[in-house]
Amino acid sequence: DDSSNTKNIPMDRKESPVVRGVSDTVVGVLGGGQLGKMLCQAASRMAVKVMVLDPLADCPAGSVAFRHVVGSFDDGDTVESFAKRCGVLTVEIEHVDAVTLERLERQGVDCQPKASTIQIIQASFFPSILYDKYLQKLHFSQHGIPLADFMQVDDIESVKKAGDMFGYPLMIKSKKLAYDGRGNAVAHSQEEIPSAVSALGGYGRGLYVEKWAPFVKELSVIVARGRDNSMSCYPVVETIHKDNICHIVEAPANVTEKVKNLSIDIAKKAVDSLEGAGVFAVELFLTSDGQVLLNEVAPRPHNSGHHTIESCYTSQYEQHVRAVLGLPLGDPSMKVPAAIMYNILGEDEGEPGFYLANQLMKRALSIPGASIHWYGKPVTPRVAIIMGSDSDLPVMKDAAIVLDSFGVPYEVSIV
Ligand code: ADP
Ligand code: MG
Repeated sequence: DDSSNTKNIPMDRKESPVVRGVSDTVVGVLGGGQLGKMLCQAASRMAVKVMVLDPLADCPAGSVAFRHVVGSFDDGDTVESFAKRCGVLTVEIEHVDAVTLERLERQGVDCQPKASTIQIIQASFFPSILYDKYLQKLHFSQHGIPLADFMQVDDIESVKKAGDMFGYPLMIKSKKLAYDGRGNAVAHSQEEIPSAVSALGGYGRGLYVEKWAPFVKELSVIVARGRDNSMSCYPVVETIHKDNICHIVEAPANVTEKVKNLSIDIAKKAVDSLEGAGVFAVELFLTSDGQVLLNEVAPRPHNSGHHTIESCYTSQYEQHVRAVLGLPLGDPSMKVPAAIMYNILGEDEGEPGFYLANQLMKRALSIPGASIHWYGKPVTPRVAIIMGSDSDLPVMKDAAIVLDSFGVPYEVSIV
């Protein structure tokens, strides 16, 4: 009876072609920045092939991707032909053509996370595109997630009205072209409204206002969701911004268990309201009275999760690859008690900036436990330095030495 040889082998194994790596599915990534680069590095360890789509010939991910397609991730035709070459499509930036993604999804392209998620989150580069950042405010408030009060504004009268209701300082935000703080302007009084609005390009750009969140800390939680809807959370971290860009990350955050649990609950609830697999970064505000408010969500790996490469059993990048491919999720817990990520933003472009970043990296290399990640941005030098150690104190001390040598005033806090 020749069926006896094979009767214990599942049909799919008998019939499927030879799988040479952990997965033969090509992962397509829209965007080839530093997040895409780190994603490619994690994937390559598992022999997963990643193709990136980015318009810059010398984009950070270009040198480490299995393949780099030079083209625009916000051009429909380009995204479509790229998608057809991939088994699963994901993003490392949300400012992509979400209208095309939705159409491709209807035609059977496997987008993870789903096009609907990108639409809710994005603050499109294109004034003509329907979707913008305000949509995410509406979405999360409709899902009962705590947010700073907000209101759409169309003219000076409506901003004044919001100012009367919410008080000052008042945060005015642009619905579109909003990233790295570029879409935010603060009015400290009614008199400052016109200048804040014009800094954002006027009412025509589409504006909304938010009540000032009197935060004592900004926190971030990275949540991973697998294709089977299983969820897994990274430890809550504190993020410190400089000029609206993530500058220092402390992992774990020095907050109470209660605040950690509340942050994780809110982060999970936010991600639960979005569709698709992958990692999601949830940015939060912690107020002095222990309230946690959602700021915004990024449907992809995040700068606040760089430290996971060295400090966690499974990095956020590997987790994202596992999630979109439907592989088992890894362990997100930390394997060191504490870590610090220090993001060097090149102050100067070109030669002087690169020279300085190079000097800083060399200093960091001499610190035990420190790892450096050169983003590889073509114009502006950007470096992330990650420090982990066996005990909290040396980590923070090492960090202080590095930070001191950079001339950054930084108060060392011991977790
Ligand atoms: P971006 O997409 O540029 O990161 P965010 O909405 O996260 O935009 O805003 C950038 C930063 O501005 C936040 O990290 C926080 O420091 C500050 N910020 C944003 N919204 C508020 C608010 N309502 N109250 C106080 N600060 C805010
Ligand atoms: Mg933000």
